[in-house]
Amino acid sequence: MKNYLTPNFSFAPVIPAKGLGSRVWDTEGREYLDLAGGIAVNALGHCHPDLVQALTEQAGKLWHISNIYTTEAAQNLAEKLVEHTFADKVFFCNSGAEANEAALKLARKYARDHYGADKNEIIACVNAFHGRTLFTVSVGGQPKYSEDFAPLPQGITHIPFNDTAALEAAVSDKTCAVIIEPVQGESGVLPAETDFLQAARRLCDQYGAALIFDEVQTGMGRTGKLFAYQQGDVIPDILTSAKALGSGFPIGAMLTSDKFAPSFGPGTHGSTFGGNPLACAVAAKAFDIINCTSTLENTVRQGEKLKAALQKVGEETGVFQTVRGQGLLIGCVLAEPYRGRAGEISAAALTQGLMILVAGPNVLRLAPSLLIDDAEVAEGVGKLRAALDAWLAAASA
Ligand SMILES: *Cc1c(COP(=O)(O)O)cnc(C)c1O
Repeated sequence: MKNYLTPNFSFAPVIPAKGLGSRVWDTEGREYLDLAGGIAVNALGHCHPDLVQALTEQAGKLWHISNIYTTEAAQNLAEKLVEHTFADKVFFCNSGAEANEAALKLARKYARDHYGADKNEIIACVNAFHGRTLFTVSVGGQPKYSEDFAPLPQGITHIPFNDTAALEAAVSDKTCAVIIEPVQGESGVLPAETDFLQAARRLCDQYGAALIFDEVQTGMGRTGKLFAYQQGDVIPDILTSAKALGSGFPIGAMLTSDKFAPSFGPGTHGSTFGGNPLACAVAAKAFDIINCTSTLENTVRQGEKLKAALQKVGEETGVFQTVRGQGLLIGCVLAEPYRGRAGEISAAALTQGLMILVAGPNVLRLAPSLLIDDAEVAEGVGKLRAALDAWLAAASA
């Protein structure tokens, strides 16, 4: 097929055409088991009948009306998010990058409103990923995503992830925000340590800075709680969500408290499509299905089973150094001899009819549907094992 798209993506050699639950079929009719979940987006698998119904019902009522008006769909979703989190107010947008852009702008605006223009510094983590806008690639801790687009926004300091001493040294009176992923997703499925999160909370309180949790990947049930921060005792001031929020329909959200929200007064920030009724209707239905005991319990149970089975695969093949993650966000860290080859293994899996992800060159990442069942977990592990065996045999031949 001729490709008409800019070359910033290197597409896989198959073209998905249809999905149902954890299954996908390509244009040639070949079947795949999907443990990638559209990169932690399809939390309820493909074409969940209740989501299809929510979308088509809303499609017959109202698609778009602009932010001159609010809608029942947007208020309904915001109410759910507020009722089940620390937040008092919600800003809707269309992606994770936009949610983080809003979070960072709110933190700067709040600091300026209350302390003056000098309090503008943002502390972020090395290897963090916060999106692809100029501000979010600059705050993200991977220079390869930002350096070609200089000059970059200023006032951003990066510290090593989980390095509490470095965080203590970096935060000052000039800090307006500390932004952290509770589990660094894109750069290797690396969970934040409790000490580090607690120190961030303490320092933000001490210096009047906003603690921002980027839960674009970890949120909406992925770790077995609605949001990952609910696993522990550290509560952020601002939280961002996207990816699984619409379970495949594009939507992002920034959640915050009544302390910070007033700095986003009329006209300070906006989005044409943010709060779109179609997106909000789907996300509200997805919220109800995700935020129920059976889905969250399934996430924990299948996550533990998958992790244990992958650990066994790692022991038997020697390919994995360790398997880590929370709930159904799992990273298999490649052992020393196989470092740098995650992409090859992912391609080998695809030829076995298995969709998986990488998180950098050294980690295989799995982010399947939260509704995945026992048989699908077993099948996925079997296919990955077969892919590894075939890949190892080809590599040693
Ligand atoms: C995917 C991701 C983003 C960016 O989301 P987009 O919807 O691609 O803009 C931001 N932060 C984290 C932690 C992510 O995983």
